[in-house]
Amino acid sequence: MEFSRRDLLKASGLSVAALALGTTATTATANDAVPSTEILPKPTGKRVVVIGGGWGGLTAARYLKKEAPESEVVVLEKRDIFVSCPISNEWLAGEVPMDFLTRDYYSAAKNFGYQFFQTTVTGIDRTSRTVTTTTGTLEYDYLILSPGIRYDYSKWFGNDTLMSERCRQECPPALMSGNEHIALKKMLEEFEEGNFIISIPDTAYRCPPAPYERAAMVAHYFQKNGIKGKVIILDPKAKPAPKGPGFLAAYKELYPDIIEYHANSLVTGVDLDKKEVKVKVTLEDDRTEMQTISYTTANLIPTNGASELIKLAGVSAGKTGWGVMNSPTFQTKADERIFVIGDAVGGYPYPKSGAIANGQGHIVATQIANIIKGLPSIKEVTLPQNICYSMLNDKEAISIGVTFSLMQDKDLNGNDTTIIKPKMTENNTRSTALGKGTHSWFKGMMGDMFGA
Ligand SMILES: Cc1cc2nc3c(=O)[nH]c(=O)nc-3n(C[C@H](O)[C@H](O)[C@H](O)COP(=O)(O)OP(=O)(O)OC[C@H]3O[C@@H](n4cnc5c(N)ncnc54)[C@H](O)[C@@H]3O)c2cc1C
Repeated sequence: MEFSRRDLLKASGLSVAALALGTTATTATANDAVPSTEILPKPTGKRVVVIGGGWGGLTAARYLKKEAPESEVVVLEKRDIFVSCPISNEWLAGEVPMDFLTRDYYSAAKNFGYQFFQTTVTGIDRTSRTVTTTTGTLEYDYLILSPGIRYDYSKWFGNDTLMSERCRQECPPALMSGNEHIALKKMLEEFEEGNFIISIPDTAYRCPPAPYERAAMVAHYFQKNGIKGKVIILDPKAKPAPKGPGFLAAYKELYPDIIEYHANSLVTGVDLDKKEVKVKVTLEDDRTEMQTISYTTANLIPTNGASELIKLAGVSAGKTGWGVMNSPTFQTKADERIFVIGDAVGGYPYPKSGAIANGQGHIVATQIANIIKGLPSIKEVTLPQNICYSMLNDKEAISIGVTFSLMQDKDLNGNDTTIIKPKMTENNTRSTALGKGTHSWFKGMMGDMFGA
């Protein structure tokens, strides 16, 4: 489907005045009916395209426009509504309404003066510096990629995309907001008895504490509604991490008859017809044994990788495809005009969290603004800080704070190098004060990204 420029401007909320600012790349006919392939006229200044209107992308867009108002900042996002993953476990258990998690993109773009297009990015050409979308093309001077994660089901289903998709639909991982979360909530509401399995992957994944928090909130839902079910956590680690003591205490003290925590247990296969998972359990003497566990409902989290766009841009490494960047600016090693932030980042000691994506958004905004203004590249930055709360019922939470600092070290060849060192402070004593802190933190983050 193709659109005329007028349709696109209307759809994007751009004014005709905005058009007058630049010259169009294609010739518009008298009735403006001929579709243009460029979705925006050329800007007078530099154009920064942000792919992904999530935690990293929206932060970068806001602060870049603030720090370099002369630049044109364009956010490309495939969804038509922002739905937060943080707080979604509380929503799953019916403790907050959906409204609490959702925001509209248009108000943020209007409030902060950047352009927003709802469109899907399908290609990135680094030679011509052009992004291709389902709506048309867009040239860039600088590109910020914050497209998040993708799922990799190959360990369970090889190259069988049909089975992979079936697993995603029947056992939603719910690490991506929106549809999967709604599907999982429906399954929870229809749950009558049996096992509710939550499985955790054995490699880096989005929001490490999220599955443990989800287990507590599902158990809370069972308890509140008198549902006879077991929540079985299958974890390849020896104990929950982070916040292990706090989660284990909550499981034991709040939900002793509901939650079963299975350490050293990795899901290696799924039989969707029989509703069973195959689990490799590593015993204390390092021997392994296979178990089969049946489920009524399963929240199976497969291996995570970076969004396909990182590979498409040619700025990734390895099978999981995480972006490869220079410290501390998130400028990719492969292309000085492309920056990767958020959960797609590889090689840094940062957890994949919204708080970190937000902090990285601030850093790239300053870095690109400096380049645009002809200022020196930032040498020292306030590194992103992570604060993460996990709710355990309708009132109480535990938390972790991670600060990062730059330190001098030696690399494998004995040369001086700068490393980023994390320092963790866990608060494993659950409290209502931390429960309240969860919502204050979330409102603060939403304020930073949306203004409210
Ligand atoms: C259950 C749960 C609880 C969590 N709780 C917390 C918490 O308490 N605290 C915390 O800090 N973090 C938490 N997180 C993690 C947090 O949600 C992520 O770390 C954060 O969303 C990462 O931001 P991002 O910008 O990298 O990706 P996202 O926020 O996922 O944004 C990526 C965007 O890119 C868009 N996109 C992708 N491909 C394309 C394309 N081809 N074209 C156009 N658009 C595209 C996507 O639609 C998406 O909107 C939680 C996550 C989960 C799942």
